[in-house]
Amino acid sequence: MIDNQGWYHTARKVPSPYFDERSDVNDISLLVVHNISLPPGQFGSDHIEQFFTGKLNPDEHPFFKVIHKMGVSAHCLIKRNGEVVQFVPFTARAWHAGQSSFAGRERCNDYSIGIELEGTDYVAYTEEQYQALAKLSQALMIMYPQITVPRITGHQYIAPMRKTDPGLVFDWIKYRALLD
Ligand SMILES: [Zn+2]
Repeated sequence: MIDNQGWYHTARKVPSPYFDERSDVNDISLLVVHNISLPPGQFGSDHIEQFFTGKLNPDEHPFFKVIHKMGVSAHCLIKRNGEVVQFVPFTARAWHAGQSSFAGRERCNDYSIGIELEGTDYVAYTEEQYQALAKLSQALMIMYPQITVPRITGHQYIAPMRKTDPGLVFDWIKYRALLD
């Protein structure tokens, strides 16, 4: 399911330049769920892939001018139809969490995996996204057993003053039930 280089077998690979090495590859112990949509609230384009690979065209939308040089990434994106796109191998550090803290430990990027759902804080996620997220999460928990159900969280909980994703519409009860 996940190979030794840290790639998920069913994902479409779109390598990002925005990553670096983890200081300890045996320290992968947290899964962080996010959301993103570009432009905000619009689904179905390739803009997220472009953003995470540094190829977003700043002239296509006023918001893109603001963000196109941010240089951020996530390990994976789950699109509205359940397709998984992978930007950074899990063995490397993606730049998704920013200033953050989980259970008293800061710098969550060092020891976490970041998964983006194409979406917003206000629109229900699709059934395909829940199914794909659950499958990917199960594969990650097998490959990286320090990731346990209590160590799956949302960006809004590790950076509560800055972030609101994946939002109150994300159904944690449904998601956790799919992990059993
Ligand atoms: Zn986020």
